[in-house]
Amino acid sequence: MKNVLKVLVGSILITLFLYLIFFLFNKASSLINSDTKLEINENIEFGLNLDNFHISRDTIRFGDSFGEILIQKKMSYPQIYKIVEKIKDSFDVRWLTAGKPYTILSTKDSLNTPQYFIYQPNLLNYVVIDFSNFDSINAANKKKPFKIVKKSTSGVINNSLSETMDQNGLPWELINQLSDIYAWTIDFARIQKGDEFKIIYNERYIEDTILVGIKSIDAAFFEHNNEELYAFNFITDSVKKTAEFYDESGNSLQRTFLKSPLRFSNISSRYNLKRRIAYYGNKVRPHRGTDFAAPSGTPIMATADGRVIKSSYTRGNGYYVKIQHNDRYSTQYLHMQKKGRIKQGKYVKQGDVIGKVGMTGNTSGPHVCYRFWKNGKQVDPFKQKLPPGKPVPKKLKSNFDEAIIPFKKLLDEIN
Ligand SMILES: [Zn+2]
Repeated sequence: MKNVLKVLVGSILITLFLYLIFFLFNKASSLINSDTKLEINENIEFGLNLDNFHISRDTIRFGDSFGEILIQKKMSYPQIYKIVEKIKDSFDVRWLTAGKPYTILSTKDSLNTPQYFIYQPNLLNYVVIDFSNFDSINAANKKKPFKIVKKSTSGVINNSLSETMDQNGLPWELINQLSDIYAWTIDFARIQKGDEFKIIYNERYIEDTILVGIKSIDAAFFEHNNEELYAFNFITDSVKKTAEFYDESGNSLQRTFLKSPLRFSNISSRYNLKRRIAYYGNKVRPHRGTDFAAPSGTPIMATADGRVIKSSYTRGNGYYVKIQHNDRYSTQYLHMQKKGRIKQGKYVKQGDVIGKVGMTGNTSGPHVCYRFWKNGKQVDPFKQKLPPGKPVPKKLKSNFDEAIIPFKKLLDEIN
């Protein structure tokens, strides 16, 4: 009897034990299964699982508009109007540019109702316009994940800096940034054959291999007129994160004025008293300003501290602001949007936003015409001997001295 009981209890225990093993194993294998499923099947792009949608990809064509594209997807005018109105502060649908790709994600059912419109102005950035729920329509500007790779390069000038850099296969962004750094210290119009440059910079890559642009220059060197000009990128204001360039002693390469009233921009037309315009039969039409092109709505900054002496309108200038910096210098900013302009009489600091890029007055596209006044005359700011910017602050000087050592060594080692 005792033996039978022993066998019975034993077999029950063994069965329970086997069940437990089986249960745990099953649980583990189902976990593994669902994990693998996730990896194989999910098709994530733009932060969305594309498997949940009907996808249509296309390119903006010349003459296309946001409204027309969505009308073709069977959306109604009131719906489109509501989307445009809701997102206008974060994305202006008029920015859609021919040649750029877009994606529309629609429901998978037979209606194919559009839910998302994704626009890619370049390889790195994209805008997700979400109208999957008409009560919470929104547009978000996003960046693809990228990694940064440090690079160095050098060259000897044959003719002009941009031609030499171009011949060496260097991107225009790097050319622009380098000429920005030395804009106040080197006159690039008088650059000489045999002048030499070296640059340490950071490139941005997406998906490991696709170069999407230059992030920043860490340090640079220029030999011009047998003079050695080092430039080191150093952040002195950790709140504003404004990086400035200093020579090896910590003196600023910048001037009391910012080089541009816009943070990101291209000079589309320089100060030129002998400018000829084909439209006017090649007659001379002097250009007393510097034009910086940027999308409508881009914030315009005061290039130096001062007082707003005009915030006004004329037919040629459109809406404009004029700032007096001291008894010698003032600056003026043309073709602004009406909204968001600073009021007359206000005091501003360098970098303060004083309005937005617009197309008011006599202009064919969104830009700011920046006019630089010296003793009551409009001059080319890039040809002026302006007072230097502030050097590295005393309390940061030892940090600066230490930070530039490896970069200076790297620069000196580049051939
Ligand atoms: Zn202009």
